[in-house]
Amino acid sequence: MAFWITASIPIKQLGDFNSFRRKAETLKVVNGSNLLDETIFEKMAALYAVSPNPQDYRYLSALAVRANVPNSNGDAVSREELFRYRPLRRCRSFETFIHSPLHVNHFSSNPKLARGFIVDAIYNTWDEDFEFVETVVAVDKTKDPILADALVSGKINKFSMGSIVESLQCSLSFCKKVAHKQSELCEHLRSQKMQYINGELCFEWNIGVDYEELSVVDNPAEKMAMTRKVLGNIPKLRNVLNYLPPAQREGFAIAASERHISWGELMGLDKSDIEIIDEYVRLYGNKIPPSVLVVLKKIKEAI
Ligand SMILES: [Zn+2]
Repeated sequence: MAFWITASIPIKQLGDFNSFRRKAETLKVVNGSNLLDETIFEKMAALYAVSPNPQDYRYLSALAVRANVPNSNGDAVSREELFRYRPLRRCRSFETFIHSPLHVNHFSSNPKLARGFIVDAIYNTWDEDFEFVETVVAVDKTKDPILADALVSGKINKFSMGSIVESLQCSLSFCKKVAHKQSELCEHLRSQKMQYINGELCFEWNIGVDYEELSVVDNPAEKMAMTRKVLGNIPKLRNVLNYLPPAQREGFAIAASERHISWGELMGLDKSDIEIIDEYVRLYGNKIPPSVLVVLKKIKEAI
């Protein structure tokens, strides 16, 4: 049993499953390493009927899921859950976005309707109160040039995730009931989501989450799920540098330590990138906050 959840559409029951469908949106990040692996594009081309050529895509980052805070559908996922290992996908929950398809309005029943796919996903700790999963989205400009142009221009900038969730837990401290199927839902989650009960906001914690897709949508449940940056062609170091707010150091450090690799490897950097870092600091050093200079120094040490 599982719940099929999206962040843009109300709950919907599917087939033989007692499932919910939800979708959220996404903002997100930059890791150039996978982008240069053309074998990935060949695999994705076969799966999603998209181009095998990385040059046929436009790239942007988008916030996909915000952690620890319910969206307007009353769905929330904790940082702990986003880092939970998903054995069937052989990665952590937030990493199940990687290589998932990009769809429009969650029309995801046929993978070959995909307009592109998710190249990468990272956990971004923007600050203490704003943590989220950021994705690098590749949209095939040869398959859907209108969508690609709209995403690059910003005319379309809203996203929503689609996920399969093993169970839902009521947020109310005096309930906390866990439901593995619809018939097990407590009365609060059945009819009182996003209402205050005894002074507490009622929403549902998503537990055991596998992300299945990301969609472009008109009305996302997660209002922060928007384009963060258009990355142009194959994103690499320059985009990473443009991205680094001071608090992101923590996110990189956590991700690197959990993968047992260095920051440099995490971001797909090699020694040739040191020249670019030096050039960047030379050109913009007087405008770079001291905290970011520390990050750049650490990156150089890690390469
Ligand atoms: Zn309850």
